Amino acid sequence: MDSTPSAPVSSVPLLDIGRGNQPLMDEIQAAIREVCESGRFLHGPDIKQLEATVAEVCQTDHAVSCGSGSDALLLSLMALDIQPGDEVIVPSFTFFATASAVWRLGGQVVFADIEPETYNVCPEKIAAAITDKTRAIIPVHLFGQCASMEAILEIAREKNIAIIEDAAQAIGASRGGKPAGSMGDIGCFSFYPTKNLGGFGDGGMLTTNNSELAERLRLVAGHGMNPRYYHSVVGINGRLDSIQAAVLNVKIRQLSKWSEQRQANAARYGSLMQTTGIDQWLTLPADLSNSVHVWNQFTVRVPGGRRDDLKNYLGEANIGSEIYYPVPLHRQECFASLGYEEGSLPETERAAAEVLSLPIFPELKIAEQQAVVDQIAKYQRALGSAAA
Ligand SMILES: *Cc1c(COP(=O)(O)O)cnc(C)c1O
Repeated sequence: MDSTPSAPVSSVPLLDIGRGNQPLMDEIQAAIREVCESGRFLHGPDIKQLEATVAEVCQTDHAVSCGSGSDALLLSLMALDIQPGDEVIVPSFTFFATASAVWRLGGQVVFADIEPETYNVCPEKIAAAITDKTRAIIPVHLFGQCASMEAILEIAREKNIAIIEDAAQAIGASRGGKPAGSMGDIGCFSFYPTKNLGGFGDGGMLTTNNSELAERLRLVAGHGMNPRYYHSVVGINGRLDSIQAAVLNVKIRQLSKWSEQRQANAARYGSLMQTTGIDQWLTLPADLSNSVHVWNQFTVRVPGGRRDDLKNYLGEANIGSEIYYPVPLHRQECFASLGYEEGSLPETERAAAEVLSLPIFPELKIAEQQAVVDQIAKYQRALGSAAA
């Protein structure tokens, strides 16, 4: 991979989408041109092909394309007929869309705390939050590693509660041999450009093994219209563009290679951090033995209130890093009326204060990873001598 003697690393981006797309550009442009010449900008063979391939990756009977990961979540809740006042349990330590989909339908957002090791929603906390009004649970496979689905499914089945997997960050991940998006009632995927499979704009996908649900998802994603101009339910325009599907059909062939490269990078961070001893200071991400982690993010915990300072220090050395997520959803202004006080979800709040995500994209070079680790080690040494 990195065989030519490399120039000294002067900067490391958090993510360089171009490095993944560049070698595929001729193929991608040909695929886009074909859509343009066919004039089939919606529906058509590219959409069908992408749905079939994602269903294969996820080992589900059905895959239904849609406009974004956010729409996938909204469409799932609409297909399950979530009504105003229905309660839906979600983590607070996630991207906004997980909770906003519930809110937009008038559902009651109920936040559950996370497991500190994986940052994924905690099954015991879910169980404690269930009431007679709970209609659905949305576990998020955060950073590319699946949530504790066995326990969550058991809780849900007992009470006939639907499970929507937010697998936006986890295409290709699995747990106990079961792919993300195949374990719950519906799986939601995003093709936002920074995700492991990113389009040239927005895109999303829904997966399910339930044919009735698949049909209903298609219906609500097309204005609830079938046949043309006859509307049995109120849906939305939630379609995926054929151009996005054409791009993704080219890119999805690389997905397993890209996942392997992310896994190799994660393993390399582990050994480099061990060599420099910073694994004794930072908490490295958990990589569960029963799971295949696809590393959408490599997220460490920085102790002692030093997270923001380390992020700035890396920034000064032109090393990209990001905080996913600095303000948990239960502390967002728009959700203030839900009444979650500071301290109500302690593990979520601690994570928001401590986490830092480092570059992990597939084409990251060894020298770049070394530079990231060296810079963190340098920061830690400076800390140590300041304290001495
Ligand atoms: C990206 C993301 C979404 C939303 O996907 P979009 O395609 O950007 O709408 C939802 N949930 C999680 C966890 C995400 O990371």
